[in-house]
Amino acid sequence: MDSVIIARNARMLATLVPEMRSLAERHLAMCAAEGIALLVVQALRTPDEQAALYAKGRTAPGRRVTNARPGYSWHNFGRAYDVAVAEGGKVVWTGHKYARAGEIGRSLSLVWGGDFKGIRGDLGHFEYHPGLTLTQARAAAGLL
Ligand SMILES: [Zn+2]
Repeated sequence: MDSVIIARNARMLATLVPEMRSLAERHLAMCAAEGIALLVVQALRTPDEQAALYAKGRTAPGRRVTNARPGYSWHNFGRAYDVAVAEGGKVVWTGHKYARAGEIGRSLSLVWGGDFKGIRGDLGHFEYHPGLTLTQARAAAGLL
């Protein structure tokens, strides 16, 4: 894979909590072994970044991209990342590689956005928070 992508992915994944980062690295490596190159486009998201995203399609231009208010996304706790499939130096946003990346993610106990009900097109989203509720994560982060 392109060294620029590798460096960018490493920078992105460094923002995740350690157990999440390990899983993400395994996920990317397993996909790469099958010829699926993934670009990590988002990992940790600050509450301000989440607020800006939540505003899209509501109080700011664009289409709605998230249903999570600030402090209500696993991205806010370093437990989620988003990937895009890279093909021939370009990012593609659809295709069977997303489904395969989702299957591989599931095999690692990751929760895949493609399995979400009610949110369409979250095929690049993965999260991991076994036994942890958002309320508990919010409390631990001092957000309650
Ligand atoms: Zn996401």
